Amino acid sequence: MTEQDKAERYKKRMQRKEKIVDASIEKADQEKGLLLVLTGNGKGKSSSAFGMVARALGHNMNVGVAQFIKGRTDTGEEAFFSKQAGCTWLVLGGGFSWKVQDLAEDQARAAAGWERASPFLQDDSIDLVVMDELTYPLKYGWLDTDTVLKAIANRPAMQHVIVTGRGAPDALVEAADTVSSVDDIKHAFRAGIKAQPGIDL
Ligand code: ATP
Ligand code: MG
Repeated sequence: MTEQDKAERYKKRMQRKEKIVDASIEKADQEKGLLLVLTGNGKGKSSSAFGMVARALGHNMNVGVAQFIKGRTDTGEEAFFSKQAGCTWLVLGGGFSWKVQDLAEDQARAAAGWERASPFLQDDSIDLVVMDELTYPLKYGWLDTDTVLKAIANRPAMQHVIVTGRGAPDALVEAADTVSSVDDIKHAFRAGIKAQPGIDL
C-alpha cells in the first residue's frame, strides 16, 4: 500500500468514526441531575470526585462535600477546596472504623454525620454534592441504605451527587446513572511506601 493509499484509508476511517460519534452526541439530548458512584478497590475514587468538584467550581457552581470516614483535617483537598468560594466542606468521620471497634459508637457517629450532610440534598442552591466514603456506613449498617437512597432520590432535579467508596451496595449501583469501578492493579503502599502528600492526601 502506498503512503497515499494509507492516508486515504485513514481519512475514510476517521470520517466513519466522526459520523458515529456525531450521531450519538445528537442522541444524548437530555439534562438531569446525575447520581455517580465511584467504587472498587483501586486508588482514584475520592480524587476523581474532587476532580469533578474542581470542574463544577470552574463553572461557578456551588458544591457541598461531606467526608464520612476521614477524621484527619490535614488533607490537601480540604486545605484547597474549603477556601474556594462556593464550596462547603464537612469532615464527619472520627478516624477509621477499624480503630473504633464499637458498633453503637460507629452508628451514632454516622447518624450525626448524616444529620449534617443530608441537608445538602434538600438545598437547591447546591449543584453538586459529594458524599465521600459513604459506602462504608451503608456496608457496615451504620446508616440505613433505604433512608439514604430516598434522600438522594428526592433531591433537587438538577443536583448532581457523587458517592465514593469500596463495595457500593447493589441498590446504590442500581439507582446510579454512572458507575465506575477502579481496579487495584498495583499500589505503592504494598511496596512499603507511606502515604505521599499530593498523591494520597
Ligand atoms: P484517593 O483518595 O487517592 O483517590 P480512593 O478514594 O480511591 O483514593 P480510599 O479507599 O478512599 O481510596 O483510600 C484512601 C487512601 O488509601 C489514599 O491515601 C489511597 O492512596 C490509599 N489507597 C487507596 N487504594 C489503596 C490500595 N488498594 N492499597 C493501599 N492503599 C490504598
Ligand atoms: Mg476515598
